[in-house]
Amino acid sequence: MIESALDRLGVSRDSLLEVMLDIRDQRGSVSEAGLLYLADRLRLTVAEVYEVATAYPAVNYGSIEPYRTEADGCDDLVCALLRGGANSHDHAGRGVCRGRCDGVSRADSVRVFDEFRAAGGYSIVERLRQEPCLKDRILQDIGSGNAVGRAGTSFPVGHKWQKIIAASGEPVVIVNADEGELATFKDRYILESDPHGVLEAALVAALVIGARQLFVYLRDDYVHLHAVLRRAIDEVVASGLADGLQIDLRRSGGAYICGEETALIASLEGRPARPRERPPYPTEQGYHGHPTLVHNVETFYRLRGIWGAALEPSVPVTALLDPEAALFSVSGRVRQPGPKLVRGLPTLAALVDEAGGMCDSDELGGIVVGGAAGTIVPARLCDVPLQELIASGLRLGTGSAVVFNQHDDIRWIAARMAGFLARESCGQCSPCRVGTTKMARAISDGSLDHATLNDLSVAMSEASICALGRNAGKFLARVIRTLPERQL
Ligand code: SF4
Repeated sequence: MIESALDRLGVSRDSLLEVMLDIRDQRGSVSEAGLLYLADRLRLTVAEVYEVATAYPAVNYGSIEPYRTEADGCDDLVCALLRGGANSHDHAGRGVCRGRCDGVSRADSVRVFDEFRAAGGYSIVERLRQEPCLKDRILQDIGSGNAVGRAGTSFPVGHKWQKIIAASGEPVVIVNADEGELATFKDRYILESDPHGVLEAALVAALVIGARQLFVYLRDDYVHLHAVLRRAIDEVVASGLADGLQIDLRRSGGAYICGEETALIASLEGRPARPRERPPYPTEQGYHGHPTLVHNVETFYRLRGIWGAALEPSVPVTALLDPEAALFSVSGRVRQPGPKLVRGLPTLAALVDEAGGMCDSDELGGIVVGGAAGTIVPARLCDVPLQELIASGLRLGTGSAVVFNQHDDIRWIAARMAGFLARESCGQCSPCRVGTTKMARAISDGSLDHATLNDLSVAMSEASICALGRNAGKFLARVIRTLPERQL
């Protein structure tokens, strides 16, 4: 079995994680014997393979329990909230968010290759191959269209592409479909609806910047999407549209940090997913030192509007081609949780209306915006104009919105968010490793005073290597302002 995986994926360290996930798929976990065999075959030390096996929860190394990828294994904020946990004494939470907070899978409504082609899909790829000078126009349009990254930082896309073109070495393109943010499922929705829209944009990027290698890096928990993407990639390859381009579908290892650009690249290289200090940025030195372009699914999909792809009423996800449309993952105590495409959202409370209103006779207690290190917005602020909240510092991040009611305990919610950050810290740097653990415990049991928590917040914000630790520090600062000392 291991040999057939190595045959398919290649006998190299790069395939280490994917081979281990293959073994896990078939056996439920990776055993010590499997680990020793892999070390021998890949000419790695046992310690190197052990380090990788234990860095990724999804490898399930040494476990006698099969790894669970479905939502029934979830014990994170939204699932626990809906089970009534917000009024319980269980603050810790163990099962990681599976990105199924809306309880729905839409893979049966996917637009397939022929339908996408019939609607004009991939014609830009054909044109680019026939008219190489079109590259300059696309680059110019991306810059003047102010396309920005949709992974929470709004980084200008055109700037990234230009940096890669200016860098030395053959570029690599990565579609980051490892959507691991708490209560976020928008990229899942896009891939369930129109995977070829994402692949089209990735192919355009590869042609414009001159890449010959494209990775699609999918969240391991999105098992149903693995088949969807496998088929979509096979169709594109068979059509000849990707000639000259190697496309590999890889899975992440079940850790939130795998979605961080440099950790993702480490994972593709068969190493533990640990972020590294920047510079150098991936655009200068990424995958095996090559300049590497990483965008998430939504960023790629929206680029289609740049080369004229239009909104199609029969394919709702194409509303994203309107730059003014925002995509939210709405979950929690609402009647119709799910992805919500909204243009010009006036207030956060309006999101609750978009989701069919509150469940039962609940009143709005507030909304957690922006994921695990996001902001707990109390009900009284949910009617304030959204632009005012943004101007005063609210960050929407990747657009997750967890709605809670008037009875839900805000301290419990904050403790769950902190628990997520502590669990998902990769542990590489102590401000984050120690800080997130102390923070989660303190919010849960009130063991630290505000002054100590303030120090902790500053240490995490200023001395952590990556955004997880830095944002955890900012989150703690907001929690200190939100909760009175006696509640901490
Ligand atoms: S900040 Fe946290 S997640 Fe990031 S490198 Fe440090 S320990 Fe790892």
